[in-house]
Amino acid sequence: MSCGKIDLHCRICRLSSGRTQVVPGKGSCRSRIVFVGEAPGKDEDLRGEPFVGRAGKLLDEALANAGVGRGEVYITNLVKCRPPENRRPRKDEIAACSGYLSSELEELRPTVVCALGQTVAKSLFGESASMKEIVGKAIPKQIGGLKVTAVIAYHPAACLYRRSNIKAFRNSIQRAVETSKRQ
Ligand code: URA
Repeated sequence: MSCGKIDLHCRICRLSSGRTQVVPGKGSCRSRIVFVGEAPGKDEDLRGEPFVGRAGKLLDEALANAGVGRGEVYITNLVKCRPPENRRPRKDEIAACSGYLSSELEELRPTVVCALGQTVAKSLFGESASMKEIVGKAIPKQIGGLKVTAVIAYHPAACLYRRSNIKAFRNSIQRAVETSKRQ
């Protein structure tokens, strides 16, 4: 299930011209925890669901390790359309898509937002510290008017080519899940 109001025919930014389909967030609209990635990749663009490729498998494993299933949480992306060649979404594309993320967050009103990767941490929370310094930490933040605990995790795709990050990734996901259970 997706939350918020997402226009599946959106043409606001240039990413719309290369996509197969819009990829809204998915999960439980009653979840108090939201995981935010960068942008859909090839698998997500084809399936219309976030994190269903190899990076998604790592996320599923980390969630299972933390004792929750994907259907109990909410998973979404900064931008809802696949950037060409899987490049990072640009600032103007993130800005163009931000209304959709806000609409998801407004409906969910999460207590914990877990940013997957530095681009997301910077864009959502203005975090400019290095990942080494902030990864796995629970930091009070505001998104719009919403007070949340931000937990920053490595992006799971980064763990695919740097396997040494997997342990820290799992720990961050566990921290995020445990924090949401306590609040
Ligand atoms: N990477 C992301 O950031 N999001 C996805 O949905 C898939 C891979």
